Amino acid sequence: MKLSQLAFKVAKDAPANADTINHKLLVQAGYVRQLMAGVYTYTPLGLKVLRNIENIVRKEMDAIGGQEILMPALHPKANWLTTGGWDNIDVLFKLKSRTDRDYALGQSHEEIVTPLAKELINSYKDLPLALYQIQWKYRDELRSKSGILRGREFFMKDMYSFHENQADFEKFYEKVKAAYLKIFKEMGLTAKVTEASGGSFTEKISYEFMVLTDAGEDDIFYCDSCDYCVNQEIAKVKEGDACPICGAPLKAARAAEVGNVFDLGQKFAKDFELTFANKNGEKQYPIMGCYGIGISRTMGVIVEKYHDDRGIIWPKAVSPFAAHVVALNGAEEYAIKIYETLKENGVSALLDDRAQSAGNKFAAADLLGIPVRLVISPRNEKLIEWKKRDQEEIELIDLNTVLTKLKTS
Ligand code: ATP
Ligand code: MG
Repeated sequence: MKLSQLAFKVAKDAPANADTINHKLLVQAGYVRQLMAGVYTYTPLGLKVLRNIENIVRKEMDAIGGQEILMPALHPKANWLTTGGWDNIDVLFKLKSRTDRDYALGQSHEEIVTPLAKELINSYKDLPLALYQIQWKYRDELRSKSGILRGREFFMKDMYSFHENQADFEKFYEKVKAAYLKIFKEMGLTAKVTEASGGSFTEKISYEFMVLTDAGEDDIFYCDSCDYCVNQEIAKVKEGDACPICGAPLKAARAAEVGNVFDLGQKFAKDFELTFANKNGEKQYPIMGCYGIGISRTMGVIVEKYHDDRGIIWPKAVSPFAAHVVALNGAEEYAIKIYETLKENGVSALLDDRAQSAGNKFAAADLLGIPVRLVISPRNEKLIEWKKRDQEEIELIDLNTVLTKLKTS
């Protein structure tokens, strides 16, 4: 992609209304545009990041046997009445048609996936079943702030699983937890598996995946010596108390929830009369689990964790491009050649071919945060200046070395 042709420009100044780093940097660099509080457009660059995150999540959901579907965002009122959600879920957006019918916008999809599964599940032989989607969600959040961390419209991966018994559910639950840790690690995030209440449906404990950041809205207690972590909202412990697992003193921190896993029990199966015939031919309700990942929130959390005072520093796995080629005055032709060669070798590259000063181009490269910057200058003959976004050193190397380093670093 050529920066000169990109309609969304890097801005000189940060937006005036930004209350968080992700909001400031994502808007200024041109990854997102705000329509109103909690509602954003993703630009070509922002969409690439979102898709990279989405694809990492998709790969791992497929690997544990999830079947991807895409459910509607527009729901009939009846499904939400069936579960009690119509009257009890405060964030549910409700709308009326011109013929006076009521609808809801999907804030989650238990109400849609359970009747759908009813068409698929008849016998224990149809179980287990795991369906997932990656889709926009709508929530009438009271305060939509913190950039893309809390949207009224946001991108989520939600998976729902159906099991013959609790033991089978537990087995899958552990698989999902492991997949989540793998997903967040691949994106450069350390997620803490955090005990929390099971939400409105159940007395059971759920697990939230928390990333430490001051931009988050959750408070947790965690242990540095082992993996113990608990949401402060439900915690029976306090800061400095002995960790219930290993005895080390607990620490307090702010965190953002990037995902969670819930044991839904039989609540939704009972609401929708979803049953299956077990091995003895008796009718039984399946056990359900649900598993969310905030795709757009994760993008914001990555920016909160990976930036400096000059801009974003994308981890390689989610970066919109592998390399950012800066063409300095007088080296434009050679820069295009480098850019084309990178592409031919399967390296995604952004070319800054704008008629701008070197200073402006370097500032844009820092702001955009692509992990490797390649400067093509008339001073260097055919050699290329290689610089990683998170390091200060510059190396002067030839094109073959650039290609090798891009593939291996
Ligand atoms: P929160 O406590 O942050 O409101 P939640 O408990 O309502 O989250 P879920 O309903 O389980 O979250 O949604 C699954 C995931 O979707 C969350 O773990 C989070 O990463 C993301 N998420 C939830 N609400 C929002 C929102 N308003 N904007 C962006 N992402 C969100
Ligand atoms: Mg919420």
